Amino acid sequence: QYAAVKDVLAGKFAIGDTVTVRGWVRTRRDSKAGISFVNLHDGSCFDAVQAVVPSELDNYSSDVLKLTTGCSVAVEGTIAESAGQGQDFELQATNVHVYGWVEDPDTYPMAPKRHSMEYLREYAHLRPRTNVAGAVTRVRHCLAQAVHRFFHEQGYYWISTPIITTSDAEGAGELFRVSTLDMMNLPRTDKGEIDYSEDFFGKEAFLTVSGQLNVEAFASALSKVYTFGPTFRAENSNTSRHLAEFWMIEPEVAFADLNDIARLAEDMLKYVFKAVLEERADDMAFFAQRIDKEAITRLQHVVDNEFVHMDYTDAIEILKNCGKTFNYPVEWGVDLQSEHERYLAEEHVGAPIILKNYPRDIKAFYMRQNDDGKTVAAMDVLAPGIGEIIGGSAREERLDVLDDRLAAMDLPFEEYSWYRDLRRYGTVPHAGFGLGFERLVAYVTGMTNIRDVIPYPRAPKSADF
Ligand code: ATP
Ligand code: MG
Ligand code: MG
Ligand code: MG
Repeated sequence: QYAAVKDVLAGKFAIGDTVTVRGWVRTRRDSKAGISFVNLHDGSCFDAVQAVVPSELDNYSSDVLKLTTGCSVAVEGTIAESAGQGQDFELQATNVHVYGWVEDPDTYPMAPKRHSMEYLREYAHLRPRTNVAGAVTRVRHCLAQAVHRFFHEQGYYWISTPIITTSDAEGAGELFRVSTLDMMNLPRTDKGEIDYSEDFFGKEAFLTVSGQLNVEAFASALSKVYTFGPTFRAENSNTSRHLAEFWMIEPEVAFADLNDIARLAEDMLKYVFKAVLEERADDMAFFAQRIDKEAITRLQHVVDNEFVHMDYTDAIEILKNCGKTFNYPVEWGVDLQSEHERYLAEEHVGAPIILKNYPRDIKAFYMRQNDDGKTVAAMDVLAPGIGEIIGGSAREERLDVLDDRLAAMDLPFEEYSWYRDLRRYGTVPHAGFGLGFERLVAYVTGMTNIRDVIPYPRAPKSADF
C-alpha cells in the first residue's frame, strides 16, 4: 500500500499499518545506537516524514548509510507514534529501496544549505526540490483553485481567450511578434517592410497582452465571465514585479459599474486569502518563519477588514504633502509609479487600497469617461510590498464616446470594428479588472521577486529552461 507523506502525517493510517512511502531524502541522521533517521518528502505537504531505519536491514550499510539529500527512495514500514517533536506519526522502516543516487553529493546544486534566490533561479529545473519552491508551488496551486472556485460559486463562466492575436491591443508597444520560421523570406513591401500577407495568419500577429477585449464580447452575452490564462509583455525594464510571461485573471461583468467590480475584487481577494490560510497552513507557517514574519497576519487582516477606497485626486494630495521625496515627482495627471503605490498601501494605509477615478489621458481608450470630462472610471488595487496588483475599469459602452476616444488617440477604427459592434448591438454598461496572478502569489507569500513565484520565469535574457 503506497502512502503520500501528507496522509501519513495526517493520521490517515492506523498505528501498525504497513505502508510504502516514495519520495526524496531531505536529511539523514545516524544515532550511535545503530539506527538512522531518514526524512522523506514527496511534495504532498511541506513536512517530511521521519523513517526510523534499524541497522538490521540487509542493505543498511550498503545503502542506507550512503543516503544523501536528494536521493530517491521507497521506504516500506509500519506506522508508529512519533516521540519526536512536531509530528504525531513516523515510519518504522522494514525495507528501503533506492531508486536513484545523487552523483557526487558534494557538488549537488541543491545540497542542504540556504541558497540565495538568485542562485536558485540558475537551476530552475532543480529548484522545485527546495522547501521554498515547494511551498510556493503548493500555494500557487491553492490560489488558482480558489480563484476558479470563487468565480464558479458566483455564477461566472471561465472563457479561454486567444494567445495569438493580430490586434496590438492598446498600442502599448510591449508586444512579442508571432511568425513562422520563414519570416525572413517573406516578400517586402515597396517601403521595404515585411509583407505579412504571405505569412501564416495573413497579417502581423502577436502574443496577447490581455484577454480583456475578447472577454468583453462574452460578457455581452453570458453576463458574468472571466479569463485566466497566460499573457505576454516585452517589458523593457528589469524589475522585481514584471515578467515577460505572466498569468492574468480577468473577470468581466455586464450591468456592472466601478463600485461593483471594486466589491468583486475585494470579495475575491478575501476568498482566496481565506482558502490559503485554511488549506496551506503548513506552507504559510514556513513563509512566516523564513520569508516574511507578517505573512499570515497580513492576510488575516485583509480578510477581517473592509478595503480603503480613495480617489486618485486625493491620493495625489496625500503624496504631495507626505513629506517624502520620490524619484518621480507627483502632480495631478501623472501615472503613479511603484514607489507612490507602495507608499499609499504600505505607509498610508498599511493594507491593500483601492484607488479610483484616474486621469483619462493616462488610461486606455476603452475606460468609461466620467462626467467631469477629465477622469475615467478606473480602479487599481495597490498592495503593500508590491504596488499595483489589480487594474480595472468600467468600460465605455457608448459608441459615440468610444469613437471620439479612438479618434483622439489615433487608433485605427478598422481594427476595432468587432469591438465597436458590441456597442452597436445591445450595448450594456459593463466593467472588469485584471489581476496579475504572480503579483498575487508574491503578496500572499511575501516573496520579494516575482521571478520566484512562477515555475519558469521569463524575463529579459532569460528563457532557457
Ligand atoms: P504596471 O503598472 O505594474 O506595469 P500595468 O498597469 O501595466 O502594471 P495592467 O495592464 O493594468 O498592468 O495589467 C493588469 C495587471 O496585470 C496588473 O495590475 C498587474 O497585476 C499585472 N501585470 C501587468 N504587467 C505585468 C508583468 N509584466 N508581469 C507580471 N504581472 C503584470
Ligand atoms: Mg505596465
Ligand atoms: Mg500600472
Ligand atoms: Mg494597470
